[in-house]
Amino acid sequence: TTDTQRPDVLVIGGGIGGLSVALALIRQGLRVRLCEQAPAFGEVGAGLQIAPNCTRILHAYGLLDEAVQLGVLPEYMIMKDALNAAELTRVDLKDMERRYGFPYMVIHRSDLHGVLLRGCERAGVELVTGARCAAYENIEGGARVTFDGGGSDEAEIVIAADGLRSVARKLIVDDEPVNSAYVAYRGAIPFERVRANDVHEKDVVLYVGPRCHFVQYPLRDGQMFNQVAVFQSPKALAGEDDWGTPDELDCAFEGTCHQVQKGLPLMWRDRWWRMFDREPLMKWVTGRIALLGDAAHPPLQYMAQGAVMAIEDGWVLGEHVSAQHAKRSEKGSGVDWEKALAAYEAVRPEHCRRVVLTARSWGELWHHVAVEREQRNAVMRARDTYDYSFMDWIYGATALTPDQEPEMYPSIPLDSVEI
Ligand code: FAD
Repeated sequence: TTDTQRPDVLVIGGGIGGLSVALALIRQGLRVRLCEQAPAFGEVGAGLQIAPNCTRILHAYGLLDEAVQLGVLPEYMIMKDALNAAELTRVDLKDMERRYGFPYMVIHRSDLHGVLLRGCERAGVELVTGARCAAYENIEGGARVTFDGGGSDEAEIVIAADGLRSVARKLIVDDEPVNSAYVAYRGAIPFERVRANDVHEKDVVLYVGPRCHFVQYPLRDGQMFNQVAVFQSPKALAGEDDWGTPDELDCAFEGTCHQVQKGLPLMWRDRWWRMFDREPLMKWVTGRIALLGDAAHPPLQYMAQGAVMAIEDGWVLGEHVSAQHAKRSEKGSGVDWEKALAAYEAVRPEHCRRVVLTARSWGELWHHVAVEREQRNAVMRARDTYDYSFMDWIYGATALTPDQEPEMYPSIPLDSVEI
């Protein structure tokens, strides 16, 4: 990259996390350059659920209306048993919107990515593609990255939003992604193709089954329909390399209800996503290099908070920059980065640690077999539709400081349940 003018901030990675932190920081009057390894910006995959703790932030950025126009605000989120399709519990999403002040939205991944990208373009973020960062280092008063091919770039701060397989993370910890042995198949198709399949046109429906689950929801103003099929791969458990293949998909869902069976042939079968997370990490900052998004806290997707947490990270950093921002001078942007980064690191890792660990136990709860399945179903059926005690800590306003972080809910003692 040619350095026309040194930016204040260099963001590595143009996924949802990178774009949203670029936007958060340019809104604070900083010069922001973002470098993405791919030759063009984009997102692969299908739908995303975006909870109120994130629509609140999109609203603050002035992007919520555009996002809602491209997405759907579903009416209910319903959990059913995948074997017999019996309803276990539901959330009234209109009531939830009243409680948290902002809607629960579902949106095509590429649409949300596009909303953020256009937001960055309008705000003047310098967007660079085809720039793969190979190394990060701290330098006097800032940090530097070196790209494949030899070029380099530097800024007062480098934000590494470089995803699950982050290069920057290695500066802080020498860990590896944790293989859950679960795999996801996805598929977003025209709604017409599922009209006869006994689907809910306006709801998010989750079928929880033995070692598998199936998710359905509408996309693009109801014109499209999103389906996600997730299951435990016997080949992964056996240590085979070739795991998660379509034959395993069909086996995993044998014995599930007709609603799920009808959905399976419509999944994309040429591509699947093996599910990894990482052990929680409490240190995200080293000098002037800070991790953000999946680079810092890749979750299993069961709480649907991965992209949401990435967007929250950027917003929190932006707010702390705003609080630590003196006047720009010839010396630089005027941000006290030590203070802003310390404030970021004081609050976000603990929140994300909770989400990453809760996502794991949420997955266990969904995938129970035999007696534990019956116990889970009894607990879910007993839940009041309007009981939000499991949600307040996650869907309420994003904490800026540790003392704002709410208490988590107690865990569910399944063995105390009568069935
Ligand atoms: P990424 O999206 O991985 O972006 C990283 C970017 O950095 C990429 O563009 C990559 O090309 C680039 N990059 C990587 N390395 C380099 C490098 N060295 N140099 C330059 N660029 C680099 N989340 C939700 O909130 N709601 C959901 O409903 C939801 N559902 C999900 C369903 C599935 C099946 C899966 C797999 C995930 C789901 N998630 C969901 C999680 C969500 O997709 C991720 O947490 C989120 O996209 C992470 O964004 P990111 O920008 O941090 O990382």
